Amino acid sequence: METMSAIALSTASDDALAAMLAARGAPAFRLAQLRRATWQPFVGGLGEIRQLPAGLTAALGQELLFSTVEVAAESEADQGLTVKLLCRLADGQTIETVAMETPARGEARRRSTVCVSTQVGCAVGCPFCATGRMGLRRSCTPAEVVDQVRAAASALHRRRLGPVTHVVYMGMGEPLAAYATTVASLRVLTGPAGISARRITVSTSGVVPAIHRLADEGIGCTLAISLHAATDELRDRLVPLNRVHPLASLVDAGTRYAARTGRRLSLEWCLIGGVNDSPEQARALAELARRARAHINVIPMNHIEDSPWGPPDRRTEVAFLGGLDGVTVTVRDTRGADTDAACGQLRAALEQRRMLRPDGTLSPPRAVAAV
Ligand code: SAH
Ligand code: SF4
Repeated sequence: METMSAIALSTASDDALAAMLAARGAPAFRLAQLRRATWQPFVGGLGEIRQLPAGLTAALGQELLFSTVEVAAESEADQGLTVKLLCRLADGQTIETVAMETPARGEARRRSTVCVSTQVGCAVGCPFCATGRMGLRRSCTPAEVVDQVRAAASALHRRRLGPVTHVVYMGMGEPLAAYATTVASLRVLTGPAGISARRITVSTSGVVPAIHRLADEGIGCTLAISLHAATDELRDRLVPLNRVHPLASLVDAGTRYAARTGRRLSLEWCLIGGVNDSPEQARALAELARRARAHINVIPMNHIEDSPWGPPDRRTEVAFLGGLDGVTVTVRDTRGADTDAACGQLRAALEQRRMLRPDGTLSPPRAVAAV
């Protein structure tokens, strides 16, 4: 039985694991076996580590948690290329994790991007975001972030898809408000998990002091700033944190981050019809992006329950994109929109259908497959 004081395998130090093994009389080489198995997507529990004697894994299970997340539900979109996981944490809270497979095309190799949550809910309260409506319940632990990547890797493996190549911190929560969790999880993902920092993106709504700190950590992941507005007046409304850290200080921090890390800055723009899709905003955004040498990512807004807002019509979107001269722009397809796959939406949809009980278990599923 796993006990409450158990430590998490994915973030346990070598010293802690070595001591645990030694206390059970296991030889030192067991450490490397345990470490290797941690990152193998076909290993689903301590008891499935075939190299280790069953007696040893049973004993380790007393104080070692194989994973801190349990997949409570899975749903698929895009013919199975997008897999959305509802992950239950030890205290019954639930968070969302999404894995998106992009098959190889031409010169481009296949990639598999996992989107992780860093908090249960979020305190920032952007009015277009489903997670913002929940308020903040708590931050995740570093292991809960790392274990989302492991759970996603195993969900991909079960579908005979390849390993995780990219990680984006774009799920529920504000990664830089959960700073210690974000940095500790980045160190594990870029260290023992073997994912290059160049393939990891942290998205922030603009916690300026934390951007400066992250720039000095020596990690070197990409930073994405959720801009959504190019004037303080509009941004104060769309991203309430702007009232504390206004645009100029945010753009400065982003530019310094890019200079310190050598990583190109990304600016995210959730395009909302009639709100931030004007030619004036496009012009101001383009100028800002040129100055910061940033790349722009436009995401037409995913409609959320009870919101008067939504994506603009196609013509307005095209006109907005046309106004972004001299900058590189990608339009993110809203993957998985057909299964409530946008930020915070699977959970919200389940709660609304009264399928998600307060303890994080599911009542009989209809729209999603419980696993
Ligand atoms: N809190 C962080 C990271 C999580 S949100 C941040 O805000 O950057 C990840 C991205 O999804 C952000 O750019 C966010 O603005 C965007 N987003 C949130 N709700 C959305 C919606 N309804 N439609 C489209 N994008 C949305
Ligand atoms: Fe929080 Fe990001 Fe949602 Fe804003 S968009 S409420 S910062 S999760």
